[in-house]
Amino acid sequence: MAEPSLDARLASVRGSVSDAAREAGRDPGEITMIVVTKFHPASLVRELYELGVRDFGENRHQDAEPKAAALIDLDPIWHFVGQLQSKKVRAVLGYARVLHSVDRTSVVEAIESTGTNVDAFVQLNLTDDPGRGGVDAGDLEILVERVAAAPGIRLLGLMAVAPLGVDARAAFAEVRLASERVRSIVPEAIALSMGMSGDYREAILEGATHLRIGTAITGNRPTRG
Ligand SMILES: *Cc1c(COP(=O)(O)O)cnc(C)c1O
Repeated sequence: MAEPSLDARLASVRGSVSDAAREAGRDPGEITMIVVTKFHPASLVRELYELGVRDFGENRHQDAEPKAAALIDLDPIWHFVGQLQSKKVRAVLGYARVLHSVDRTSVVEAIESTGTNVDAFVQLNLTDDPGRGGVDAGDLEILVERVAAAPGIRLLGLMAVAPLGVDARAAFAEVRLASERVRSIVPEAIALSMGMSGDYREAILEGATHLRIGTAITGNRPTRG
């Protein structure tokens, strides 16, 4: 049998997202589906755009920047979902409208120094490994207070990646609980960026507002040379 086409995969994921939203008693229209196009060429982004997708996610600046430049004739919303290096923040803000991975003070300072207004999520690390990206749960309030003090940053909420080998639903429930701590500091920061190809259903059941879905829509990523 032939591989399902891009539009068939997109329609299938959209259908599953709607089903999960209804199961959770939620309006599918309140959920933003970001298609993560990392490792894929600009031509695939263009195809998805023609199929109606507007929100795209990338995790590496050196790949994302030329892709955004190649698609300057379109009006996509670029979400930066990878680890942010302070020294690259200015360049990332050249195309990204939403940062999903603010996880330390130096990144907040780097954003402030550009004078740019940007929407952002604070990323919460659900593992014990500091190399995974995200702020430790114990340092969450301090970072959120720092973000709240940065006039150019509109804090949307929390972002997280469910660790491998744990129950995704339980991991996302932890993010939902941590979100209450965020909202006690920034009441408007109600969004939850969580859920990938393998676990978006669980994320929706725990209140995800922004899904970051790659392979379930794009197919397998080309291997990096
Ligand atoms: C790659 C990536 C995704 C998408 O992963 P899939 O499993 O392909 O859906 C989501 N979030 C982040 C941070 C990623 O790096």
